[in-house]
Amino acid sequence: MGLDEDSLDYHREDPPGKIEISTTKPTNTQRDLSLAYSPGVAAPCRAIRDNPNDAYSYTAKGNLVGVVSDGTAVLGLGDIGAQASKPVMEGKGVLFKRFADIDVFDIELEDADTEEMIRSISSMEPTFGGINLEDIKAPECFEVEERLREEMDIPIFHDDQHGTAIISGAALLNAADIAGKELDELDIVFSGAGASAIASARFYISLGAKRENITMCDSSGIITEARAENEDVNEFKKEFARDVPEGDLADAMVDADVFVGLSVGGIVDQEMVQSMGSDPIIFAMANPDPEIAYEDAKQARDDTVIMATGRSDYPNQVNNVLGFPFIFRGALDVRATEINEEMKRAAAEALAELARQDVPDAVVKAYGDQPLQYGPEYVIPKPLDPRVLFEVAPAVAEAAMDSGAARVEIEHDEYVEQLEA
Ligand code: NAP
Ligand code: MG
Repeated sequence: MGLDEDSLDYHREDPPGKIEISTTKPTNTQRDLSLAYSPGVAAPCRAIRDNPNDAYSYTAKGNLVGVVSDGTAVLGLGDIGAQASKPVMEGKGVLFKRFADIDVFDIELEDADTEEMIRSISSMEPTFGGINLEDIKAPECFEVEERLREEMDIPIFHDDQHGTAIISGAALLNAADIAGKELDELDIVFSGAGASAIASARFYISLGAKRENITMCDSSGIITEARAENEDVNEFKKEFARDVPEGDLADAMVDADVFVGLSVGGIVDQEMVQSMGSDPIIFAMANPDPEIAYEDAKQARDDTVIMATGRSDYPNQVNNVLGFPFIFRGALDVRATEINEEMKRAAAEALAELARQDVPDAVVKAYGDQPLQYGPEYVIPKPLDPRVLFEVAPAVAEAAMDSGAARVEIEHDEYVEQLEA
């Protein structure tokens, strides 16, 4: 395949990989070096010893994110191990840099169980302004993140959970608006009960959906209270167990307003789409093949189907790159202690709001002149839209300040100007 060969060439080209470290201060003279290192470096060390927050003033901590993985749930590749996951983690670093000018150290942890991961990552707090957990399998990922959030005073963000939740959450806000439905009335069916599905369901509730209107299905069908009692169902699935008769995904989808697919490709057919309520919202986000193809879902009905997938070759691509660079940008710029629910909601709302505005010509051109106008075929902004940075980062920073997660205050207009510079 052309793409595979091209990618191997791309990565192999000298120097191997795709990132390097560069210095930001002069290093030309003996004097420069004695400032950068011994003996001059003792001064910032003493300052930080006396006031740990000075690390943000005298080191790169405040613009440095650790992308940490154990390699157990890598892209569509599965449990390929820490070493094999390194190209992905370096790639995540490339995206952080390209979209938000954030530096990344990628950290791949070999054979780390939950406790080892928690211990290793929490001891990295001095190094980083934030931690992006990446491609750690469910259900371990939930405990790792939860415990680290308790123990650490920097943002901890498992992107496979919250990135997906925030971006599809933005899409949900707008899709509901376009379909003329209220979030608290939406009957929502999930296919999948893994990392991204559990986080998305939790987040939709945070946005206004009702837990009692959510039905979650895993590979054995609807997660019912009966199953939760009698089977070995993990505590995260139990959180969404519903008091309904047992059934499969097709049963769950009858009369539903929203289908959220975070499972595997090709498991939804046109009949299932026809059984849904009016103007259905279908987010078929399995990669690389969605739960149902875009054309098949659209053609299944005469009313409006609002469809999103993970694919770049169809409208409404739910792609995490719309989120993490800008969310971390805003969090780092107020030296945040966490990325909390308020900050996540602010990010989703900013994305949703941006999609309602006119799209600049340059962005339309970059996407092959397809009409990008708020409506069923355009519910979230495009990843290459430069306005995403100027809208999402300030919204996140502001939410951090309002919710007490910011170590420093910044002024909105000044901050936007600084981002634009
Ligand atoms: P995960 O933690 O492994 O969860 C996968 C879930 O799918 C599990 O709950 C599994 O059920 C369920 N499942 C597997 N086969 C199924 C079937 N035939 N019918 C119904 N459910 C089935 O994976 P994840 O990280 O959440 O990702 C899930 C999918 O979403 C992947 O395809 C991923 O690429 C995609 N995704 C897309 C985006 C995006 O932005 N577009 C973001 C994140 C994830 P059991 O629990 O019974 O095993
Ligand atoms: Mg990932």
